[in-house]
Amino acid sequence: MPDSAICILYEEIKECKEGCIVLCRSTRAANLVKLQLMELSKGRGLLGVEVLGLSSYVAKMAKTIGLEGQIIGSLGREMILSEILSERRAPGFGALPKDVRLTDYVSGFNQAISDMKKSGISAERFKSKAGQDKIKQLLAEVYTRYDERLEKAKAIDNSDLMKKVSIAVGMSNTMTADGARIIAFIPGAEQEMLEELSLFGAAPFTGYCDVAPLYPISGGVIRLSARQGERLSREVARLIKRRHVDTGIGYERMCICIPSSGKYSKMLADALDWAGIPTGEPIWSGLSDHPVGSSIIAFMELVSISGMKLDVFKYCASHYWGMDLETVSSLKGFQKIKGTLMELSKWAKHSSIVSGFSIPDEDILRIHLNELCEWADRISSWVHMNKKSNTWEAHCSNLRKFIDDNYVKLISGELDPASMAIERKAIDDLREIIDKIEEANLLMEDQKSKVDWDTFAYSVSEAIRKTRIMKKAASKLGVAIAEPKDINGLAFDTLVIYEVTESNFPTVRKPKWLLSDEDLIRISKPGGEFCENTRITLERTAFDAAIASCKGQLVLAIPSIGDDERKLNPSVWVADVEDSQRKAGGDYRLVDCPRKIPAALRYADCVTETEQRLYKDDRAYYGENKPFGFEALKTRNVDEGGARLKSATGKVIDESYVWTPSKINGFLKCSLSAVTGILLKMREDEEYEEMVSGKARGNMVHNALKVAIDVLTTMRKERKATKEQAKKAAIEAIERTLSYSESYKYSDASEEIWKLVIAGTKPALVAFIAEEADYIFDESIGFLPRHTEITLPFDGAESTISIDGMEICCKARIDRIDTAEGDVCAIYDYKTGNPLQAKEDIQVEFYAILCKKLLGYKPVVSMYLKIEKGDGKVLTRVAAKRGFIVEEYKDRLVYARKFQPKSMDVSTTSFLPLKEEKYDYWISQYEGKIGNAIRNIRAGKFLEGINPEEHNCGYCQRKNFCWGKRVFSQVDNVESAGE
Ligand code: SF4
Repeated sequence: MPDSAICILYEEIKECKEGCIVLCRSTRAANLVKLQLMELSKGRGLLGVEVLGLSSYVAKMAKTIGLEGQIIGSLGREMILSEILSERRAPGFGALPKDVRLTDYVSGFNQAISDMKKSGISAERFKSKAGQDKIKQLLAEVYTRYDERLEKAKAIDNSDLMKKVSIAVGMSNTMTADGARIIAFIPGAEQEMLEELSLFGAAPFTGYCDVAPLYPISGGVIRLSARQGERLSREVARLIKRRHVDTGIGYERMCICIPSSGKYSKMLADALDWAGIPTGEPIWSGLSDHPVGSSIIAFMELVSISGMKLDVFKYCASHYWGMDLETVSSLKGFQKIKGTLMELSKWAKHSSIVSGFSIPDEDILRIHLNELCEWADRISSWVHMNKKSNTWEAHCSNLRKFIDDNYVKLISGELDPASMAIERKAIDDLREIIDKIEEANLLMEDQKSKVDWDTFAYSVSEAIRKTRIMKKAASKLGVAIAEPKDINGLAFDTLVIYEVTESNFPTVRKPKWLLSDEDLIRISKPGGEFCENTRITLERTAFDAAIASCKGQLVLAIPSIGDDERKLNPSVWVADVEDSQRKAGGDYRLVDCPRKIPAALRYADCVTETEQRLYKDDRAYYGENKPFGFEALKTRNVDEGGARLKSATGKVIDESYVWTPSKINGFLKCSLSAVTGILLKMREDEEYEEMVSGKARGNMVHNALKVAIDVLTTMRKERKATKEQAKKAAIEAIERTLSYSESYKYSDASEEIWKLVIAGTKPALVAFIAEEADYIFDESIGFLPRHTEITLPFDGAESTISIDGMEICCKARIDRIDTAEGDVCAIYDYKTGNPLQAKEDIQVEFYAILCKKLLGYKPVVSMYLKIEKGDGKVLTRVAAKRGFIVEEYKDRLVYARKFQPKSMDVSTTSFLPLKEEKYDYWISQYEGKIGNAIRNIRAGKFLEGINPEEHNCGYCQRKNFCWGKRVFSQVDNVESAGE
């Protein structure tokens, strides 16, 4: 590596007779520099040389100067903000809007203040730019008070530390490193950072010679593509292993470059570990994922809700402070009513939770019940001690005692040494969190002020969620994982740039809860670091410098998503790299790794023993050419699986099982598909998509229509405004609700994409609301919206209804119910797509029966309203074609469609116009249809209504492993082959 900056650095530091300190951008960069210097010195070590990350050096200097005890980190900031926000009733403070929880403000403000400090935005500047937005004004006020609080306590926010330390060091000549040279090995450092570094007496390293990549890259460029997530990371690991085996190049000379730390580094370290490759990155896990952390979070939750009715089994199975798991499962098995809810104090006394029959051994059961009562009693005393408001100090001391009494004594020799070490570390981390809270408390204005349990529990739980514990230490000979800035000036043989997509390189603006990057750009000083163009230029320089560090093979890893494995758009810079490589005559390859590679093609790729075993199993299967079709599988499933399905159904569906229209609809659509949702309780696949998900789109439409209909109804009732004024107000409400600042929480897409979606949807919403304004303001109609977006049954109300002779628990969310005189009601469900056919749908009919039985209404219409921008000739309600309507109410409901279906059958007729005299008959028919479906599900008849059909299967959760669908596609293939 003769021409690399690291080689020049090595030569330079060899000349430093008085020793030297090498400062790097981050701890990760420092580790890499250290390793490469060691490699250059052939492992002999470099006397008098210290390589440190800038933050470690700053912390070290802060300690020397005596600032150590004054530093406020994220946890301390959070506590102080929580105290300031709790004082919101103090004079001069605006009231806190009630629709956001205090804890959300605390974490949002914490992030915002940290961001502003990092980008050099003072409280004063932010105040002048906060504008009319009430929350931003509140943030400005809180930011100012926070700074005043720090000033008074002579404390320093962590984000300001470097500046403060550099000023202090700059003023003192004695603080520098005892004659040792300080070299800032921070390529591409920003001007402000360079100024601060010079105050430390650090000289920037200037001997770069390889910032621009040199093409062709000798070992070639590979564009690797595989499904996003674990799959792509494992393919990268596979490729690295192959390069190591083929060329003998050490893993320490390979690096994976990630767009940002966080999820990528953990996922990649796990993938390398999976392939048996050492990694330069320690393997971390979240403290909240470890039983130590999760059980403390559960304890905090239990104390918070102990006065309410709760299911004690969720808590008594907790690690460390819970009960023996066998006792818990024995008691659970004999519970009279599954999911019984009682206050903790009642659980401590209650001993009649079990059913009076099928108890095999009364004595054992009695012992178990006594254990439960004793446990609940013991925990109640902890709850009693903790729950009251207390000073931070007292809360911390109670929690420390809880840990000492329940956790420490349980560290056992049963665990293997590595797991035991992690457990000890987790408990130490917990103690450290408590220490930090106590330290931060010293900086509070009133250290003796009392905080309620929930505030304390929130701070501890959040700190646990943010803390990581190391599962495996880094290996010196492992593959490095680093961000582009971290490897500037270093040299590797193999470099992988991971997820090199357009959203990562350059980084798009990512909106936050309160201040987006866009806000920061607007508020920061013109020409500051937050100028977008400057940032992109800096990122590009870091990207090129990263590529320049590659001396062998470059891999550009690009993820694909979705079932069709659609590739995400690569970064625009990828094309530059590929062009340069081709023009220079270098090797360039595409490596596509689709998910389903036939076994025969896979063997060469296997990098683990498990993979090789799976390959052999597959080969045996394909080799034998077993019959593989509907008949073979159905026979097997009816004989064995049929029985299994029935017994599984019996266990899952008891009297407390909650029925929803979507579960029943799933069964009607394809009985087999309901297994996933009902028996396996699987939810929809959650995949990252670039486009807005169906769920987010649904939320958008429902939220906007709820707000607009509520506005129209209120104005109509108040009778102060004209119809046109109400229409205008409702449309404004839609616009507000659709804006990104109101909807980003559920929008799951970037602002740009969200705007595109809104542009397509808003006209339909506005057109519908304009129609509904005419309807609601028409005095002659007599129906007015009464409930919008409600969940039935109401909280605390009766939740069972009788359907077709069965008592069932149920739950449904209804978009809108209008009522008229005599509790006659009209039920509407908004749809943006086409409603299902009658044979596979009971939703609106189910709503009608719920309204009748739970609310005592008489539904005279229950139908879907398809929200679409039509030609304006037919009203939305007149275009409705699924549901039912009582003919006598057609005119009042402005349903001007005249038609008579050929047949009248609740299972096949999409829209039934009923006559009043036959109302009860038809409602009972609907009840029968729903009852039948429930009865069939209860009987486990999942194999009798299989419906493999392109559209159904396309959206089904079973599709990847469903033999019904496989048979269907085989038939399909055979048919097309014959054409
Ligand atoms: S994939 Fe098709 S056939 Fe299989 S369960 Fe789903 S909808 Fe039914």
